[in-house]
Amino acid sequence: MPELPEVETTRRGLALKLEGRRIERIEARRPDLRFPLPPDFAARIRGRRVEALDRRAKYILIRLEGGLVWLVHLGMSGRMVLRQGWPNEIGPHDHVLFGTDEGWAAVYNDPRRFGMMDLIEPADLPTHKLLAGLGPEPLDDAFSPAVLAAALKDRKTPMKAALLDQTLVAGLGNIYVCEALFRAGIDPRRPAGRVKPEKLAKLVPAIKAVLREAVKAGGSSLRDYVQSDGELGYFQTRFRVYDREGQACVTCRRPVRRIVQSGRSTFYCGTCQR
Ligand SMILES: [Zn+2]
Repeated sequence: MPELPEVETTRRGLALKLEGRRIERIEARRPDLRFPLPPDFAARIRGRRVEALDRRAKYILIRLEGGLVWLVHLGMSGRMVLRQGWPNEIGPHDHVLFGTDEGWAAVYNDPRRFGMMDLIEPADLPTHKLLAGLGPEPLDDAFSPAVLAAALKDRKTPMKAALLDQTLVAGLGNIYVCEALFRAGIDPRRPAGRVKPEKLAKLVPAIKAVLREAVKAGGSSLRDYVQSDGELGYFQTRFRVYDREGQACVTCRRPVRRIVQSGRSTFYCGTCQR
């Protein structure tokens, strides 16, 4: 599943070929993804110039001229593939295709169709049902140990679940929460309200570091995307605990454990994380 760094890498890749260009051609090959596409979806986008691409949590915001924001979420399995020229072959999971006046085309492919797209007036962004409740961006300065401590106060939910709560901090997913808790030495099962301030002071920089490192790795992957298959946003990252069950902890060499919390795998070291 794409997490924040993959979404950010996708945003950057799309920005390279879309920003400043006009969408000359767009084709929605089905009426819905996770939700129905908005009425006149393709017609409202066609002919508009792309002013900028932004990101909020795991949403990509394609800002179009004339005051329209094209909101894209990749869901569980969505991906953008860039091509030079309109594709000759269209696969069964290629749901939305669009091309610019410069000849580049982007294909939105999503086998499981948990992704979504919407068109929003900029003024309605703060109150949009999917964006309104989101907490601070983890990479923003507004996300600080003090802000996190206030949000966690008296919370009895396990720390892992608290960090996945999008109203507390936006865009964090399973992989990077496991990695950040490991770096901060926090047991993912510990009640969130009982994590000490000094641990939270380590956790916030750890969250920012794991995300920044992954965004950087994604940026390196972008440099070769044209030579490879044009697929944006998926790249190799080395994890310290994630998906390493039974392998030696990089710090203490004891085996990394896996447990299931709210239906998702948690990887952690029972010795290093307290
Ligand atoms: Zn360890």
